[in-house]
Amino acid sequence: MRAAMAVIPLMLLISASAFAGGEIQNVRHWTAPDQTRIVFDVSDGIVFTVHKETGRVFIDFQDTTLKDSLPSTIDMKKPAIEKIVLGRSPGDVLRAELHIPEGAESKVFRLKRFQDRPERVVVDLRLPALEKKESETRQAVKKDRRERIVIIDPGHGGDDPGALGRHGTKEKDVVLQIGRKLRDELNGREGYRAFLTRNGDYYVPFRKRVTIAKEYGADLFVSIHADAVKGTHARGSSVYALSLSGASNEAARLLATNENLSDIIGGVSEEESGEETDAILLNMFQTNTINRSMLFGSTVLDRLGDVGNIKFASVQHAPFRVLKLPDIPSVLVETAYISNPEEEKLLKHRLHQQKIAGAIADAITEFLPAEETGGPDGKIVKKGRSGREDRTAVALYPVKRGETLAGIAKKHDTTLAVLLKLNDMKIDDPLLWGRKIKVPAADSGEEAVQPKKTAGSREPASKRHFLTYRVKKGDSLGRIAREKQVALQVLLEANDMKRGDPLFVGRLLKIPVAGTAADTATAAEKPKKATANGREKMIYYRVKRGDNLTEIARRHHTSVENLMALNSIKRGDPLYVNRRIRVPSPSAP
Ligand SMILES: [Zn+2]
Repeated sequence: MRAAMAVIPLMLLISASAFAGGEIQNVRHWTAPDQTRIVFDVSDGIVFTVHKETGRVFIDFQDTTLKDSLPSTIDMKKPAIEKIVLGRSPGDVLRAELHIPEGAESKVFRLKRFQDRPERVVVDLRLPALEKKESETRQAVKKDRRERIVIIDPGHGGDDPGALGRHGTKEKDVVLQIGRKLRDELNGREGYRAFLTRNGDYYVPFRKRVTIAKEYGADLFVSIHADAVKGTHARGSSVYALSLSGASNEAARLLATNENLSDIIGGVSEEESGEETDAILLNMFQTNTINRSMLFGSTVLDRLGDVGNIKFASVQHAPFRVLKLPDIPSVLVETAYISNPEEEKLLKHRLHQQKIAGAIADAITEFLPAEETGGPDGKIVKKGRSGREDRTAVALYPVKRGETLAGIAKKHDTTLAVLLKLNDMKIDDPLLWGRKIKVPAADSGEEAVQPKKTAGSREPASKRHFLTYRVKKGDSLGRIAREKQVALQVLLEANDMKRGDPLFVGRLLKIPVAGTAADTATAAEKPKKATANGREKMIYYRVKRGDNLTEIARRHHTSVENLMALNSIKRGDPLYVNRRIRVPSPSAP
């Protein structure tokens, strides 16, 4: 490639005054692992033609001068580009000659003047073979994953700085720093693997961010941002979930409109800027996924409240493009206001970044407790609580119509994660009314029972119990699923149906019942036994950041072993911040 340099004579640059035409004002570039973007800032309406040869891309700018301060040769040595040579060429054109390695592909397009950005001629240079390999690597992670997969999406990047602070801090920089800390924090916790959608200063189109999450088979998606408004007073974190129609308030609507401009500011070609996901598909899944996103978001808000101010006390929603993932709970976190000088300072501070990352990681581990994978099909199965006597006192609580697990958790002053663990449930398992679920007893006067040694309420579909339901006129699968409080997917599976299959009136449908006869029997037979067993008197202690079991045991005059037994904790289990654990009451004999 280097030999080619000799045969291309470098032309003398002619000063701007000699031409009435256009000007190349600046040449910038952004580098991703598998591609490089070259941006020529140009004057409006510049005329150019492109032609390509092996190893070369020629862009001929008509009637154009090069700004004096720009060099005629730019050595790049970046992915998909070796160097750029700028010079005059026969026919009175300014030629940009891009030297590209074998296998590189190029796309040249114009971006119109937008906001404070000039007109631009963009050259995207990609290495398709490397892209393909990266995509395969992501899909391999999905295929034989052993952990929870979390995708962290630092907003903006490259030509899109995002919001700017009074002192020049760029949103794209601080969110990348926080995103990397969150990734490391999660990767340091057993049972989790985290990946970034971008790990450098380059722009990634919305569509690609969403594709990355899908390829990894993400369990959760967290987009990290920092907010800005005109004044300097607004402050605090907020969390958003997707809305396919309106927004929860005007501020949320404006925010989404702004964030959705990223593809334009970041500079995405028309073919890359298409919608992320088929609208029909999105609609089909939206209710369930958005509900889960809201639930996850409220956990994030809770934890963020421990490290700083909160802007809105509840999860807001707005039509953010980057959250358009049909079946992956996704939230967008506005970590703080970069427009507030105090928060701008915090956002840049390493320690505060770590606090934010830690809080989000805590929320993730609380919302989605770690699991171990089982079979070769890559399906996640529950970590069995085998072998050890489980002495946690629990009560059985019959689910009432319309109740949610989160609501029940709140009622019993516990967390969703604890309920999921106690009942060996997944977050999207159907919650049938009448089913008795285990809740921490906490001396509440509810019937206490000793849980079975192995929690087994989650059975394979084949062993589930069924009711039958005859389809009536006007029924839809969605409505039946809702009415019977069964996940649509479970209903489809139970009846060997696919989405979109016709539903004939009079057809008998199987309605899966999660709570089995055996569970009910257990509930009926065993009440009150444990209370007579002379349980130790307990109080709760909320785990703080930096706590460990040894320290907690010492402070409560008990042993680590006792704490582990009381709380069903195994050696090596992570101790989540804010988890309530049982400790012996000081007044106990
Ligand atoms: Zn943003």
